[in-house]
Amino acid sequence: MDRRQFIISSSATVAGVALARVPVWGQQPAAPPVTKFEELRRGVGIFIGNGGTIGYLVNGDGAIAVDSQFMNTAAICVEGLRTRAPKGLQMLINTHHHGDHTGGNKAFRPLVKSIVCQENCLVWHKKVSEQANNVADQAFADLSFGGSWSTNFGDEKVWARYFGPGHTSGDAVIHFEKANVVHGGDLLFRRVHPRIDGPAGASAVNWIKVLERIAKDHSNDTIFVFGHGADNSVRGTKADVTFFRDYLSAGVDHVRKGIGARKSKDEITKVSALPKFESVTAFNPRLTLEGTLGSIYDELSK
Ligand SMILES: [Zn+2]
Repeated sequence: MDRRQFIISSSATVAGVALARVPVWGQQPAAPPVTKFEELRRGVGIFIGNGGTIGYLVNGDGAIAVDSQFMNTAAICVEGLRTRAPKGLQMLINTHHHGDHTGGNKAFRPLVKSIVCQENCLVWHKKVSEQANNVADQAFADLSFGGSWSTNFGDEKVWARYFGPGHTSGDAVIHFEKANVVHGGDLLFRRVHPRIDGPAGASAVNWIKVLERIAKDHSNDTIFVFGHGADNSVRGTKADVTFFRDYLSAGVDHVRKGIGARKSKDEITKVSALPKFESVTAFNPRLTLEGTLGSIYDELSK
């Protein structure tokens, strides 16, 4: 190998390693996963691993999971829920179609009676997997709903509700009524810059209304589970929900003002922070304030 070839192949290796270690949407990182189960209230809890937060309910009827992360951590979650629930894992609910919430569906599929999601989630899940040519790695929902869906499970009542476009165009809010716990999937980002999936029909403008509704429908005692959060802290309160609503509102106002003043997209999006929201960080190098404002710009200038 000559020197030039060596440099090319070693930089390719370095790039390969760097790529494998950065969690990319829809891809499975290589590092061994660190995982944790955390009980919240009345049989409802969260599983932290790799990707969007998994929520769960364990009671006399078995277990229900909300979202599935990627295959490597999904398998650990499935095992943990099986040992916690003598009646077994009965159901999986997907909050939306993104790979870090549905990539582990196949680990649940042989055990659950049904996989539930909002109807637009199912459309997008199929569409993006066809585009990525990885349909064989997926397990799609077999039960989808439009506005809302609910089930009685042991001594709990579980709801999935749809409030229109937000993070995507098929986000469901999962409500464990008696435990008073809400799993908001990626409608809830806790003090980190969100992804706004414009190509999948997301809307920052409607997302603000959805967050308004989520806050209004629940109490100060409600425990909110966030899809992602700063320092992997994904448990929050109504105040964290309204903080995120206010962050998105500040973003939309900032972009509107910029467009009104005939500024370019670059001038509008290349700012270091939104006033009062300087503490919001990037939990993923791909999700920056510039990206958030850019998505809002694309939506408003359509
Ligand atoms: Zn997402």
